[in-house]
Amino acid sequence: MRGNLAGPRLLLRRLREVMAEPIKAQERLDKIVVLIASNVVAEVCSVYILRADGVLELYATEGLKREAVHQASLRVGQGLVGLIAAEARPLNLPNARAHPGFTYLPETGEEAFNSFLGVPILRAGRTLGVLVVQNKSHRTYLEDEVEALQTTAMVIAEMVAAGELEAIAQKNTGLDLSRPIHATGVGLAEGVGLGHVVLHEPRVVITNLIAEDVDAERVRLEGAIGRLRLSIDDLLSSGDIAASGEHREVLEAFRMFAHDRGWIRKIEEAIRNGLTAEAAVEKVQSDTRARMLRQTDPYLRERLHDLDDLAHRLIRELMGRQHGPLSAELPQDAIIVARNMGAAELLDYGRDRIRGLVLEEGGPTSHITIVARALGVPLVGQLHDIVSLADAGDGIIVDGDAGEVHLRPTSEVESAYAEKVRFRARRQAQYRRLRTKPSVTRDGVDITLQMNAGLLVDLPHLVEAGAAGVGLFRTELQFMVASSFPRMSDQQAQYRQVLEAAGGRPVTFRSLDIGGDKVLPYLRSIQEENPAMGWRALRLGLDRPGLLRTQIRALLMAAAGRELKLMFPMVAEVSEFIAARTLVEKEVQHLRKHGHDLPETTRLGVMVEVPSLLYQLDELFAEVDFISVGSNDLFQFFCAADRGNTRVADRFDTLGLGFLRALKSIVDGASAAHVPVTLCGELAGRPLQAMALLGLGFRDLSMSPASLGPIKAMLRSLDVGRLSARLLPPLEPGHPENDIRDFLQRFADETNVEL
Ligand code: PEP
Ligand code: MG
Repeated sequence: MRGNLAGPRLLLRRLREVMAEPIKAQERLDKIVVLIASNVVAEVCSVYILRADGVLELYATEGLKREAVHQASLRVGQGLVGLIAAEARPLNLPNARAHPGFTYLPETGEEAFNSFLGVPILRAGRTLGVLVVQNKSHRTYLEDEVEALQTTAMVIAEMVAAGELEAIAQKNTGLDLSRPIHATGVGLAEGVGLGHVVLHEPRVVITNLIAEDVDAERVRLEGAIGRLRLSIDDLLSSGDIAASGEHREVLEAFRMFAHDRGWIRKIEEAIRNGLTAEAAVEKVQSDTRARMLRQTDPYLRERLHDLDDLAHRLIRELMGRQHGPLSAELPQDAIIVARNMGAAELLDYGRDRIRGLVLEEGGPTSHITIVARALGVPLVGQLHDIVSLADAGDGIIVDGDAGEVHLRPTSEVESAYAEKVRFRARRQAQYRRLRTKPSVTRDGVDITLQMNAGLLVDLPHLVEAGAAGVGLFRTELQFMVASSFPRMSDQQAQYRQVLEAAGGRPVTFRSLDIGGDKVLPYLRSIQEENPAMGWRALRLGLDRPGLLRTQIRALLMAAAGRELKLMFPMVAEVSEFIAARTLVEKEVQHLRKHGHDLPETTRLGVMVEVPSLLYQLDELFAEVDFISVGSNDLFQFFCAADRGNTRVADRFDTLGLGFLRALKSIVDGASAAHVPVTLCGELAGRPLQAMALLGLGFRDLSMSPASLGPIKAMLRSLDVGRLSARLLPPLEPGHPENDIRDFLQRFADETNVEL
C-alpha cells in the first residue's frame, strides 16, 4: 500500500520543483501536464481553465494535439469536462464514449482514448477549471489516482489564483476568477457604497502546499486537532457560550465534526499524498464547499457551513493565526463580506472605514440590520454564495437601495455608480435643507418625526437630521457591545450623556430588551425552543428584578432635574406594566430616602408589540402615560412569522388588511383615551408604509436617522386628510378595494406624493 502511495508524493515533490523554476506560465503548465501524465501512467493529461464567459478553454495538454491549446473549448455543462465543472465533482469512466454527456472535440484528436478521469480545479469551493487524464485502454482509475489528481489540481488552483495565467489568457475574455459578478439579494439598509472587499472571516492564504516530511505533518495535524477539540469543549463547558459570538447549536455541531473520523481521515489521506497539514485541510474544505454550493436543503447547508467554519479554525490553529478582523489592516473603503455577523462585531470595525456590508444571511428586522441602518452603512443581505465568490481586495459596489451587489465591477458599472453616488449626495443635501423646514403635511397637519438610537454615536444625527427627539433609545445596545455587564455608574453616565446630547429634546428610553436575537456575550444564555417568544425583555426583568432595578435607578439618577420617559418592551398583560411601575416607584422612594435628586417628571409607557395587548387596550390606556407601537415584533407575532427568518420574514405584507386594521384599532383607541402614541418599528422609516400610518391617524413616528429626510419629503407632499378619507373605507369589511398596497401606490402617484 505504502509503495503505491509514494507516487503522488513524488509527483508533488516534482511539482514543487517546477513551481519554483523561473519560467513563463505556459511553459510551467506544459511541464506540469507532462509530469502528471507520466506519474499517473496516462497517455493524455490536459488542463482546461474556466474563462469569464463561462467557457472552459484548453490551456495545456500532453497527448492531445498541441495545436488545439487555446483553441479547443467547451461551455460549462457541455461534454464531460463541462459536466465536471458544472457539478464540481470528479468523473472516472473506463469507457468515456458510452457516457451520455460525451462530446467529441475533433481538433484535439481525442477519439483514440477510451478511459477518462477528470477532476475539478477548485479553490475555496469555486471551480476554476478541470484537470483530465485519458488512456487508450478501458481502465478504471484507482481511488489513489483520483486523489492524486485532486491534490495536483489544488496546486494548479493556486497558480490560477495567484494571477499567473492572466498573462496567457485571451485578451477579450479574462479568467473566471476575475469575472465581474452582478448579484441580487435584498436591500436591508439603504445607501450605496463603493470600495474593496474585506472578508469578515479572512481566508488564510496557504503558501506552503507540499510537505517536506509527511510524518511531521501528521503530528502537526494531530496536535492542532487536539487543541481545537479542547477549545470547543472549553467553550461548551464554560457556559459562557456567547463569548465567541456563537450559539451552542453551532458549537455542538463543531464538536461533532471535530470528532468525525471520516472528516479527519480525508485530511490524513491528503497528507499521505504529500500535502502539508494546512493544505490538506484546505483541500478537504474546498471539496466540502463545492458540495455545499450544490446543496439546496437549508439544514444541510447550514451544517456544511459549520464544517466549513471548523476547517477555517483548524487552518488558523495550524498556522498560528488568531480569529477576528484585523481592524488595523482595514482599507479606507472597506466593504465587509460575511456569512452573518453579530451587531457588536460590526461595531468593532469602527464606523469610519466601512462603506458597506454584504451578508449571505440577514433579515429586514434582524439586529445586524438595525445597527447597520443606525450607523448608515448600506447593507445587502441574502446573497447566498458571496463569500466564496469574493476575494479580499476585490472591487465591490453595494447598492442597499436596489439590493444589488457588483463584485469586480467593470469600469462602466463603476462610473454609473459614481454618478448614482453623486445623485444621492445631491438628494441628501436636499434632505438636509428640509431639516429646518417644518414637519407639516400639505394640508397643514403637524407630524412629529423622532429618531431611533441606541448608542452615543447615534446622537449627533439628532441635530443633523432634524429629529424632534429620540422616540426609541434601545438601551440594550450598550450592553451588547460591552464585554462585561455595565455597572450602574456606567449606565447612569451613558444615560446622562444621551440626555445632554439631546439638548432638551425628549428621549424615550426603553428598558433592556435582551433575549431573542439579542444576546449578551457575558450572560449565560439558556436554550430555548423559541427565544423570540421566550424569556426575554420585561419577562426577564421582572424575574430578575435586581437587573431591572439597577437600570431604573441609573435612569432616574441620570434624568435628575429633567423629564424621564421610560417604556417597557414585550408587555403581554397590563399587570406586567403595573409590576414594572411598582419597581420604579420603589426606586423613587429609595432615592428620595437617600437624598438624591429625582427627575422633574417621570412618564412611563408600554411598547405595544404583543398582540394580546390589542384586546386590553382600554385597561392599558387607563394605566400608561404613553404607548409606542413596536411594529417589528407586533408584526412577527401577529402573522406568526419570525422576523429574523429570511424564508418567512417577507412572506406577509405589512400593508395587509389584517395588520392595518390592528394598527388602526391602536391609534383610534389611544386618541379616544387621550394617550400619546408613537410607532417606532422599521415601518415608520419606509415612505409608503409611513404614508399609510399617517392615513390611519398616527401623528408621531420614530425611525432610523437615515429615514428622516425621505419621510419628511413624503409627508410635506402629502394631503393626509384626503388620504384618510380614501384609505379608511377600504379597511371596512366587504369593501371591493382590498389590495391596500396597490391603492396606496396609486394614491401617491395620482397626488404626487414624494416616495
Ligand atoms: C419593534 O419591535 O418594533 C421595536 C422597535 O423593537 P426592536 O426592533 O428593538 O425589537
Ligand atoms: Mg421589539
